Amino acid sequence: MNTLNPRFLTITALAGIAGIVIANFDITRKMKNESSTDKTTSIPLSDKWAGPYGGVPAFDKIEISQFKPALEASMQEKFKEVDQIANSAEPATFENTIMALERSGRMMERVQTIYGVWSNNLSTKEFQAIEEEMEPKLSAFNDQITQNEKLFKRIEAVYNSRIEKNLNPEQQRLAREYYVNFVRGGAKLDETTKKRLSDINQELAGLFTKFSQNLLHDEMEQTLVFKSEEDLKGLPQSIKDAASAAATTKKMAGSWVISNTRSSIDPFLTYSDRRDLREKAWKMFINRGDNPGERDNNGIITEILRLRAERATLLGYATHAHWRLENTMAKTPEKAIELMESVWTPAVARVKEEVADMQTLANKEGANIKIEPWDYRYYAEKVRKEKYDLDQNEVKQYLQLEKLREGMFWVAGELFDFTFTQINDVPVYHPDIRVWEVKNKTTGAHIGLWYFDAYAREGKRSGAWMNAYRNQERMDGNISTIVSNNSNFLKGKPGEPVLISWDDASTLFHEFGHALHGLSSNVTYPMLSGTNVFRDYVEFPSQLLEHWLSTPEVLQKFAIHYQTSQPIPQSLVDRIEKASTFNEGFGTVEYLSSALIDMKLHLAGSLKIDADAFERETLAKLGMPAEIVMRHRTPQFGHIFSGDGYSAGYYSYLWSDVLTADAYSAFVEAGGPYDKKVAQRLSKYVFSVGNTIDPEAGYNSFRGRDAKVDALMIGRGFPVK
Ligand SMILES: [Zn+2]
Repeated sequence: MNTLNPRFLTITALAGIAGIVIANFDITRKMKNESSTDKTTSIPLSDKWAGPYGGVPAFDKIEISQFKPALEASMQEKFKEVDQIANSAEPATFENTIMALERSGRMMERVQTIYGVWSNNLSTKEFQAIEEEMEPKLSAFNDQITQNEKLFKRIEAVYNSRIEKNLNPEQQRLAREYYVNFVRGGAKLDETTKKRLSDINQELAGLFTKFSQNLLHDEMEQTLVFKSEEDLKGLPQSIKDAASAAATTKKMAGSWVISNTRSSIDPFLTYSDRRDLREKAWKMFINRGDNPGERDNNGIITEILRLRAERATLLGYATHAHWRLENTMAKTPEKAIELMESVWTPAVARVKEEVADMQTLANKEGANIKIEPWDYRYYAEKVRKEKYDLDQNEVKQYLQLEKLREGMFWVAGELFDFTFTQINDVPVYHPDIRVWEVKNKTTGAHIGLWYFDAYAREGKRSGAWMNAYRNQERMDGNISTIVSNNSNFLKGKPGEPVLISWDDASTLFHEFGHALHGLSSNVTYPMLSGTNVFRDYVEFPSQLLEHWLSTPEVLQKFAIHYQTSQPIPQSLVDRIEKASTFNEGFGTVEYLSSALIDMKLHLAGSLKIDADAFERETLAKLGMPAEIVMRHRTPQFGHIFSGDGYSAGYYSYLWSDVLTADAYSAFVEAGGPYDKKVAQRLSKYVFSVGNTIDPEAGYNSFRGRDAKVDALMIGRGFPVK
């Protein structure tokens, strides 16, 4: 089945790794004074990771009070290290400048990794106050380094002499990365402009934090509470149970609570027979961040866009989008838009057919309605049953989270020769988290660790993602990687298996694809390691892995009925296959509308933007079908407003998916999804190389030619030109 749902954040951006950096000397001086007073206090958070597997995070020793002093101490340490490199009396060389920078900031990486874990998984009011204070400081610190003139001169000298000094290709690429990042971060600007740039970055850091905290607030605080069985009409028992459990957690035992998160709302919209409540749920969900009052994100968006536009101008780019796209595969906004528009038109045409099918069915039932956005998932499900005899709830009985996890491990064994063993000798930040050691199946060599944080909890952001706690490298001896996958499955009753939807199963494989990308890494320098690749390339390995969920090998062995233990029947698999392009109009349009709005917002330059009006007018111009809403409306578009990472970059999922669809056909053409030769090429040229080679060249070596868009169109059931 073709899923490729381009929906989840993947990698939480770790400052410190990319060396995009900038500056405020006042802050550093102040910092130095502050930390000299508490030098005697030991902070476990900033200590070197001890224990087995080359050291692991001491999650059991972390207290919130440690974050601020540890972050400050780590900035101070990195400042000293960088200062030494910048002021060296020796002429700049690859070793004393670039490699020295790669070795610097280790404490900061450790501290920021754990800080990121808390921010995403264990956010509390107390922690949020620390984020509000520290985010602008961290941003200023980064600028301080990027704007260090002496340091930049040395990087520039190494970069300019990279060929005459006979640096190897990986070293040349690393020198280039440093040079480009510094220039793109403003290293060549004059002092006044640098100062303004740093002010903008600090202000943005504060706004990003506020944006995500507002969103988390609306997701946590707004709920639908039901008191009567009447309100639950149509819901499967598993959803009722989850709603009842949610009510108990909120001390409302005896009622049912639907939370304002995608994992609760989407199933409700799919199954609830109560049209009035579907409308209510839909409106609550699509208005996250868009409610008048102090949690309203609209003003923040206007400010973010204004500051980004100003920053782009200072840096010498036409718009923020031009700045962001320069260092990607697409290279220009025009290239990205061209691809999006080529898919948009057939997708909208498909939506018209989907709506017509749903309207016919509603008329036949005598519903006497016109399909509205809160009806889409509900009637789509009915059409799926009628047209394809496929009931998602029937499929779900075969999708046990733990069995599918075993299935993923098995796939990793077949494709990458990995084997997974659960371990209990490392600390975790919550009892629900489990850890596996990854080894090479043939040689037994240690590869890395995989942490799995599967369940939703208060203070954890919604969605699913992958994170690298530590990058693989071998600059000074072999350092193995530590990665995590995080998701928001609803925990069942004790002892009962957790059943998940087909979409959620695809997401599980998707995030595991990111993890395998990290685990496969085989490079020398940490900055080029694992998933540290172009934004529009990073979703390629993850989306590719989604394809293995629907392989017969996985379904027969791991899609096992939770009661009868029978494998999923072939007739059901056939129906899944037959329905594989069903509802692709909906999925593509809800995604692409978000991706197009993202790009257009960031191409609008210095216009003062009212997010609501911009969204409405742009969608009207695009011919957005009235029955669909953007997957992420602007006031809740965390991908692009809780940081710079995916800004003008939401198109990346589609860009990567061209490669994904084309790459999967390489397996199909060769002899199937487990063809060893193709798998070896995939590992050699894609999964293991990190950013040591140009992704286009890497892809070409894997495929023997450049990617074609045809496979993507076929996969979505759209006509190929
Ligand atoms: Zn992803």
